[in-house]
Amino acid sequence: MPELPELEGISNYLSKKLSGEIITEVETFIHTVIRIPGIEQFKSMLEGTKLENVKRKGKLLIFYFQSGEKTLALFLDHGLTGCLSWEKKKLPAKTVMKMHFKSGKILLYHDRRLHGAIWLYDTTTQNEYSTPSKVRNYGPDILEISLNEFQSRIKRYRGEIKGVLNKQEFVTGIGNAYADEILFNAAIHPFTKRTSLDTSEIEQLFTSCQSILQFSTAKITDWLFSTDQLDNQRFWRGELFRIHLRGEQSCLKCGKAISSIKANRRITNFCCTCQSPRNKNFI
Ligand SMILES: [Zn+2]
Repeated sequence: MPELPELEGISNYLSKKLSGEIITEVETFIHTVIRIPGIEQFKSMLEGTKLENVKRKGKLLIFYFQSGEKTLALFLDHGLTGCLSWEKKKLPAKTVMKMHFKSGKILLYHDRRLHGAIWLYDTTTQNEYSTPSKVRNYGPDILEISLNEFQSRIKRYRGEIKGVLNKQEFVTGIGNAYADEILFNAAIHPFTKRTSLDTSEIEQLFTSCQSILQFSTAKITDWLFSTDQLDNQRFWRGELFRIHLRGEQSCLKCGKAISSIKANRRITNFCCTCQSPRNKNFI
């Protein structure tokens, strides 16, 4: 599932590559992913519009299109396996839609498990319900929050720190994979209770969020512009990750084996030595 660095990189890249482009045709293949509006309206609203830019909100992308006086907002939630790419010789399995642009560029979206979703709104007639419901519950973006706000918001949560970082109502943008990277960088065990972290550890955690996410975004943006490969998430993560998905490998800091715990189909990786646990019951 793409998280903040991948989505931020993709939005930077697509804004540069597609802003000002006119959509000539939208082809749709799997309609269940397109939640709002109906499929014919979805196509007729988009065709002939000009793509203004692409932004990220939390773990969603928003494509903004201009059509006369109207501004349309297309929200894309990748779910677990959704993926954008440029046109390929062979249509990928579970292709949901293709957007054809006047310049000849073709952007497609496919989703192997079909957990993702697309919503299209006319923002000129927007009211408070004209956004996907999950966005309405979002907390502030992790890259836009101050240390003071981070410290004050985190006090509302008492659970394990990795779970807290993944709560989008606390801060948005961090998912399972980058939470492992952030906690490894901050030398905090993922199952430590938030209530047992002191002020300096919370500050260390905040600094780690900013540095890991900003560094990863910059690298992914560079790779995108140098390769033009939108669907290269596996490579990006292989290059960037120091702890996540490295279970049983040697820790890069201390050389001991990296721990791996799977719960609710999500893997948590950490180093017992470098991220010394505060609550021994968890180990
Ligand atoms: Zn270690």
